[in-house]
Amino acid sequence: MAEQPSRALSASDEAALRDLLAAERAAAVTRIGVLTRAWDDIVASSSLVAVDDEHDPEGATIAFERAHVQALLDQARSQLADLDLALERLGRGRYGTCERCGQPIALERLRARPAATTCVHCTRPRR
Ligand SMILES: [Zn+2]
Repeated sequence: MAEQPSRALSASDEAALRDLLAAERAAAVTRIGVLTRAWDDIVASSSLVAVDDEHDPEGATIAFERAHVQALLDQARSQLADLDLALERLGRGRYGTCERCGQPIALERLRARPAATTCVHCTRPRR
């Protein structure tokens, strides 16, 4: 198999990735909507239940659920922000270029994680 020269994405790759980003963005927006409703439900139910007693198991469950939904919401919102950033970079012709080293990001990586802003070398977990 011939090695692809490391240069900007082809127009068809870019179009495919743009679709992927748009689809992931739509999914993130839906997830945020669902989580926001779940959050509202939890808040509504916790105002119905008297949570003035710390030892009330109901109160503890609600607090746990609330923290869980909050974490998922934060995650979905940051995902959405990353996707918006990726789309914005795409519009400026900066998409697919590593933010750290300026090298092209491998197409397989972009397909797997379309919002990626760094190449695989710059994303190695630091231990
Ligand atoms: Zn890099």
